[in-house]
Amino acid sequence: MAYTYDPENIFAKILTGDIPNKTVLETEHTLAFRDIYPQAPVHVLVIPKGPYVCYDHFAQDASDAEILDFTRTVGEVCKMEGLEADGFRLIANAGVNGVQEVPHLHVHILSGRPLGRMLD
Ligand code: IMP
Repeated sequence: MAYTYDPENIFAKILTGDIPNKTVLETEHTLAFRDIYPQAPVHVLVIPKGPYVCYDHFAQDASDAEILDFTRTVGEVCKMEGLEADGFRLIANAGVNGVQEVPHLHVHILSGRPLGRMLD
């Protein structure tokens, strides 16, 4: 499937600086910032700077450098937030079935409380 990226989405505007954000970490290809409606004591969103709609779009079309940078940034945020001891959850919603609200790839990093089982 060919994805069409909407350059007017909220996270695109965060990347251009038109909408402010609480940055946790910024690298060459990736931005991590706090979710505006946190669902847990730690709720960070990690996004690539490139125009990717969702995870499979990114995995198929991004460069190796972008993918490496994104993956390392997720790991670095986990380290910075001290999540190793008690654990965390990563979520990347996609499309209608995934109930994705913002059509720019983002991985949610959630922690700071027991999150319950998801896959029952
Ligand atoms: P989704 O349902 O996986 O697309 O999640 C979108 C997330 O973006 C939600 O958790 C929202 O709270 C979050 N969000 C929406 N607008 C902003 C914003 O301007 N700053 C930070 N987070 C946002």
